[in-house]
Amino acid sequence: MYKLIDSHSHIDEIENTDSVIAEARKNHIRAVIAVGTSFTSNQRIMALAEKYPRYIYPALGLFPWNIADDNFQDNMIYIRENIHRAIGMGEIGLDYSKGVKERASKEIQKSVLRELLEIAKANNKPALIHSRYSWKDCFNITHELNHTKAVFHWYTGPLSILDKIIESGYYISASPSAEYHEEHRAAIKAAPLERLILETDSPVTYHRGTEFRYESRPADVVRTLNAVSEIKNIDKETVAEITFENTCKLFSL
Ligand SMILES: [Zn+2]
Repeated sequence: MYKLIDSHSHIDEIENTDSVIAEARKNHIRAVIAVGTSFTSNQRIMALAEKYPRYIYPALGLFPWNIADDNFQDNMIYIRENIHRAIGMGEIGLDYSKGVKERASKEIQKSVLRELLEIAKANNKPALIHSRYSWKDCFNITHELNHTKAVFHWYTGPLSILDKIIESGYYISASPSAEYHEEHRAAIKAAPLERLILETDSPVTYHRGTEFRYESRPADVVRTLNAVSEIKNIDKETVAEITFENTCKLFSL
């Protein structure tokens, strides 16, 4: 049977971790990379990683929305002090959707991203990058800082920027929206399998019209696998094997 890793889950936001992990194990998920977004979530993730060693692997991050939090500076300090205990830095990035820009301007978001990437680079940690409507700036900043390890998570941007991402040695990750989201499907189709990893971004709710709607769990990385296999017309076993190896390599698992 396949071995899978969910490379991006907000598992701290899901209740009943025991049963969620039992379900993931039943579906051959060998590990979950838990991404932090705030001071509170980073601490929760570190606690979960301690509770489920060699299953939940922590990444520490700061979602652009949370730059406006009162404890933003506490989080920056927490990340600096604890990054050596994590396997990566994320979720970090830029978000140019209106609501987020109103909380933190593009310029502020960019300066925070630079600071975080410098920390990641200094500690040799891969970055998990959120790049909604900001694909070009996210790529440019990561590339300019010469941080060599990054995954552009749930990539839905232009294929011209995807080419640069791939040329520079970075990865993209596929989410369960690969079942229906046209831009995401186009990116998955264009990216070589050697630069793809799988994720859920759980507990994101995925829906397509009235056909389905569900709140995702790490076990849903199986849906991502199936969709990627269909898009790339490569058998599931090969997709599982290569993406598993890619994830282990990127995160030194
Ligand atoms: Zn996320």
